[in-house]
Amino acid sequence: MAHTDNPAQDTATVRQSRGLGDRLLDRFFTTGRVLETERIAARMIRIRIGGPALRTLNCLPGQHLRVVVGGDGLLSRVGDLRTYTVWHFDQENGELHLCVLDHGDGPGSRWGRTAEVGMQVRFRGPEGSFTLRPDAPNHLFIGEETASVAFGAMLRAVPDEVPVSGAIETATPADRLPLPRAAELSHPLRGTAPAARSEILLDAVRNLRLSATPGVAYVAGEARTIQMITKHLVQERNWPRRAIITKPFWTPGRRGMD
Ligand SMILES: Cc1cc2nc3c(=O)[nH]c(=O)nc-3n(C[C@H](O)[C@H](O)[C@H](O)COP(=O)(O)OP(=O)(O)OC[C@H]3O[C@@H](n4cnc5c(N)ncnc54)[C@H](O)[C@@H]3O)c2cc1C
Repeated sequence: MAHTDNPAQDTATVRQSRGLGDRLLDRFFTTGRVLETERIAARMIRIRIGGPALRTLNCLPGQHLRVVVGGDGLLSRVGDLRTYTVWHFDQENGELHLCVLDHGDGPGSRWGRTAEVGMQVRFRGPEGSFTLRPDAPNHLFIGEETASVAFGAMLRAVPDEVPVSGAIETATPADRLPLPRAAELSHPLRGTAPAARSEILLDAVRNLRLSATPGVAYVAGEARTIQMITKHLVQERNWPRRAIITKPFWTPGRRGMD
């Protein structure tokens, strides 16, 4: 931005350009504020976001937001988007919760770690087709820490009488999210083994007793693990490919997958 000799004029220009940037962002994003943060699991931060605009939103179980997670200028702010599944949605009170994994370094991880009450949050969505298929006769959930956020929202929406099964891998027991119907799922631990191309999760799926009538399988998390699991379900368990819904959330070396 150009500076003048007149400090008052400089300040006015800054205010004007900030106002324009904010107005532009308002056209493309919904704005809320952080109401609460909590370390809900060892490396997972739950962020409760609220505001009047959130009362106008709709959200299907499993849908996600595209969140502006960093940057100073308008362009870089819009450039730093990361995707987070809605863990809990409360339309009446205009609130939703996200759970962000503190996996190490990255704009999204940093955003989750440093989120504090009062912070403004801009986002697009909820959106996405990785959602619960409510009419399925049974539901199979397979994934790791990040996938378990989506599975939490989906499991809450499954009627009690409909069977669920699955395998949710975490590094340690302390990394587990509090999931509904957790007793009906298997919870393999990978310790220090990588979550990418996870043989541990694949083995846990091999040991699952699957329903004789395939329902819907939801497979999410690290991209190459998803490929291995899908191949196993189709080739070794005769699960129809069309009954498997997959969504890669991340993979080593790729940034901000969507
Ligand atoms: C549909 C969808 C839903 C998602 N929902 C969630 C969610 O609810 N919660 C959540 O935490 N994330 C979720 N993600 C992943 C999230 O969008 C980011 O990709 C993740 O937070 C990493 O962003 P980053 O900026 O920290 O790292 P980036 O800069 O994007 O990635 C840097 C590197 O970090 C490593 N990395 C990234 N993610 C992980 C990970 N999970 N474990 C280990 N290493 C990793 C990879 O090597 C990657 O190349 C979702 C993604 C998608 C596509």
